[in-house]
Amino acid sequence: MAPSILQPEADAPAQKYVAAKTLTQFDSPSLLHRSLLEQPHKVIRASGSYLYLEDGRKILDACGGAAVAIIGHGNDEVAQAALDQMRQVSYVHTLSYTTDSAENLARSILRSNDSGFDHGLVKAFFVGSGSEANDAAMKCARQYWYEKGQTQRRYFISRLQGYHGNTIGSMSVSTMVGRKIPYQDMLLPYVSHVSAADVYHGSNDGEKEEEFTERLIAEIEVEFLRLGPENIISFMAETVVGAASGTMPAPKGYWPAVRNLCNKYGILLHLDEIMCGMGRTGTLFAFEQEGIRPDIVTIGKGLGGGYAPIAAMLINSTIVDSLRKGTSAFNHGQTYQAHPVSCATALAVQNIVRRDGLLERVKILGSKLQDLLSTTFTDCDYVGDIRGRGLFWSLEFVENKARKSPFPKEFHFGPRVQQAAFNIGVAIYPGSGTIDGLSGDHVLIAPPYTTTEEELEVAVATVKKAYNEVVAAYF
Ligand code: PLP
Repeated sequence: MAPSILQPEADAPAQKYVAAKTLTQFDSPSLLHRSLLEQPHKVIRASGSYLYLEDGRKILDACGGAAVAIIGHGNDEVAQAALDQMRQVSYVHTLSYTTDSAENLARSILRSNDSGFDHGLVKAFFVGSGSEANDAAMKCARQYWYEKGQTQRRYFISRLQGYHGNTIGSMSVSTMVGRKIPYQDMLLPYVSHVSAADVYHGSNDGEKEEEFTERLIAEIEVEFLRLGPENIISFMAETVVGAASGTMPAPKGYWPAVRNLCNKYGILLHLDEIMCGMGRTGTLFAFEQEGIRPDIVTIGKGLGGGYAPIAAMLINSTIVDSLRKGTSAFNHGQTYQAHPVSCATALAVQNIVRRDGLLERVKILGSKLQDLLSTTFTDCDYVGDIRGRGLFWSLEFVENKARKSPFPKEFHFGPRVQQAAFNIGVAIYPGSGTIDGLSGDHVLIAPPYTTTEEELEVAVATVKKAYNEVVAAYF
């Protein structure tokens, strides 16, 4: 009988709960790794779906870092584009200048996209990371209202089980509790969190998805009214939640209902697609599949595919027109904004995605991955949920499937599965704090769009082996 997190057995095998980390002495410790305890793996070469380590190992990268490497590693066309741009214009400041690479990248993303979906976004601001993009978006949304004379609007409404970044602004709206601990009392004060759109944990027994959606929407409406809609800047959330709770799409009808509610109360809708956007779910933007048009969208990760640090805030014409009538400039600028080399690199990545029909490939391989995960894990006693969309999938591990109760967090079930898979030769992304920011484990699989069916088979079979090892260690 397994020890329960709710009622630990008196004689629970304490030695099985050893901390996942032990202090190790390294001959030449990394001078930059964030952990002072662990030594990162040194990658000496990366090509296609594989990473080659200094110790001779070859690792199948089934998560592209953190869902970043959408076209795999070491692409020569992209390298050439970066080099060409460096030679042509290596840097200019956006205060006075622009470049073809930045303009063409903006055009490529904003032009009515190939699926024919009219997203309504008309302007892009390129920055260096997802966190910066979200901070920019929060500032832009605030400026929008400020210039309309609605200076009392201070609140951002976001959701539990959401992640938006590590800067003070983006962390304030995030709910990954572990990352916030030392900073809790210095985060933005005007933030309110509503429930996650978590069908697995949040819906009641026998409740239809539509009914769950109605409950969630009612809760948001109550929160809007409690704070006063006239005091709220935006509702911000991930269209499909990524690292915080493990590739979690919202229940049916949720997004159209949120859009209607934001319209009803005059609140901006900001979708964070830093992880789930740029084709990861099979369409350029995940919100296309929901049939809605947000006011602000943030993208990152897949935008540059890992070849250069780049992310963006995209805004619609309502905001642009309003700012034009106000101070006529977004009051935000950074030295490396719209960096020409990053933009040229991202453009090369996006051109490859379009030319090689990779979004279609995501749909086809995505359903293959879904099938593989279902056939391999559905009957596993400790896999509570298998969820995702496109090439963006997660397994959530639970100690008790009927109760959906998590493993003790000290056991680090998700990180252990990730570690065991890595030892066998497959990189996946670990997640913990899945349920409430503290407990609950998942692992995330997000391979490059260029991956093959065989690689997916290897990845899933390896995760199964790793899972078996961790289960054996626990019981
Ligand atoms: N938003 C989401 C949904 C993310 O997944 C991430 C990163 O994981 C971020 C924002 C922050 O992006 P970055 O790490 O590039 O700052």
